[in-house]
Amino acid sequence: MATVVTRFAPSPSGALHLGNVRTALFSWLLARRAGGRFVLRVEDTDRERSSDESVAGQLADLAWLGLDWDAGPDRDDGRGPYRQSQRGATYARLLAQLEAAGHAYPCYCSPAELEAARRAQLARHEPPRYAGTCRGLDAAARAAREAAGRRPALRFAVPEGRIVRFDDLVRGPQEADAAAFGDFVIRRADGAAMFFFCNAADDALMGVTHVLRGDDHLSNTPRQLLLLEALGLTAPRYGHLPLLLDADGAPQSKRRGSVTVGALRRQGYLPGAVLNFLLRLGHHGAPDAWIDPAELAGHFDPGKLGRAPAHFDPVQLDHWQREAVRRLSPAQAAEWLAPMLPADWTAARRVEAARLLQGNLLRPADAAGWVGVLGGDIAPLAGEDAALVAAAGAGFFESALAAFADSGGDLRRLAEGLQARTGRKGREIYQPLRIALTGRHDGPELAALLAAIPPALVRERLANAARAR
Ligand code: GLU
Ligand code: ZN
Repeated sequence: MATVVTRFAPSPSGALHLGNVRTALFSWLLARRAGGRFVLRVEDTDRERSSDESVAGQLADLAWLGLDWDAGPDRDDGRGPYRQSQRGATYARLLAQLEAAGHAYPCYCSPAELEAARRAQLARHEPPRYAGTCRGLDAAARAAREAAGRRPALRFAVPEGRIVRFDDLVRGPQEADAAAFGDFVIRRADGAAMFFFCNAADDALMGVTHVLRGDDHLSNTPRQLLLLEALGLTAPRYGHLPLLLDADGAPQSKRRGSVTVGALRRQGYLPGAVLNFLLRLGHHGAPDAWIDPAELAGHFDPGKLGRAPAHFDPVQLDHWQREAVRRLSPAQAAEWLAPMLPADWTAARRVEAARLLQGNLLRPADAAGWVGVLGGDIAPLAGEDAALVAAAGAGFFESALAAFADSGGDLRRLAEGLQARTGRKGREIYQPLRIALTGRHDGPELAALLAAIPPALVRERLANAARAR
């Protein structure tokens, strides 16, 4: 069987948002599950909207997610270059080839003439399409227009009487009547090849076998198939993914403030969380349990790609983030939390703190309060917490201070000492202790917290609680 080659072809006009990387992920998985190749092509023919900064940012985002590419702008395999802005000579050659073979012809119509023709068609209740005015121009007629200084566009001569059929990887059998297209422009009068021409030609030249892309490109596909046929190039199979919608139902787009990969990374989301989240967006049948990123490809089935738009659900993303954070080793967790931890903490203390807290955090920023609990200040007691501490009474915390002097950071021994001194037990002991020591009634195991809080702070907090009322 021939090698599967897939690609991701972003336009570098901004940051990658979740909709883009979902397309990238599915394409990558399609290649990886088959032991195939995944290539990265930068579609930067729109010079005005493209920037090197965006290219670098997009590559960094993909690398961060672990979506590695076998060929790309930074890694040629002989079929590059992988930036469309560097492929102008290739497009020119192919366009000339089409023209020489009679599959394309120069069109000298001015914008005003085209607009007038369009209006006339609309007035006759005909769908507007290029009327074919320049298709039959002979050499003399062309020369006359050239001599008048007219700069032609190049139009593809759409073959007559063709129904274009293809089997979409996601949407199943599709067909389009080529008669509806009209002869379309493949090179503008300024000499620039049209986007969908470059896109189709590159897929074929780069040996791409399977294209997954957003269904905003579905209407390009029949034209691209005709172009590749005329060029004598093998077309890939196409699959069109429904849009990813924001939580509010609007499409995820780079021009709106949608969720970008960079924003998630800066907030401390982990690649594994984003990947587990995306795998289940518009793709069914993956198990409910966490999948290690190295095993994702085994759980991807292009036959299970949905046709309905998927919605971005932040609750689901956080679910996978919780799973990812739980799975960090203490050393990894310490690195993840590093920006939040005081600079003067030893490596051992950082790892210990991270190990203790990781089960209670979604993002590093969530650790702010806990870092205070472990080695700084706790929030002043308020509301029900303050009432519980007051109700426990000054005598309880004085006893706790005395018991702590004997037990040190060992919670079981502290509780035994407190029980012996006060006759209280269980929740009556642990709840006021937890609140006095941490300022809150939830969080990591109290025994681990007690062991991690410096004894001087434990004494200070117990003494404060004894004074509370
Ligand atoms: N550069 C196009 C885009 O970002 C790619 C289209 C395609 O994947 O074929 O929408
Ligand atoms: Zn024309």
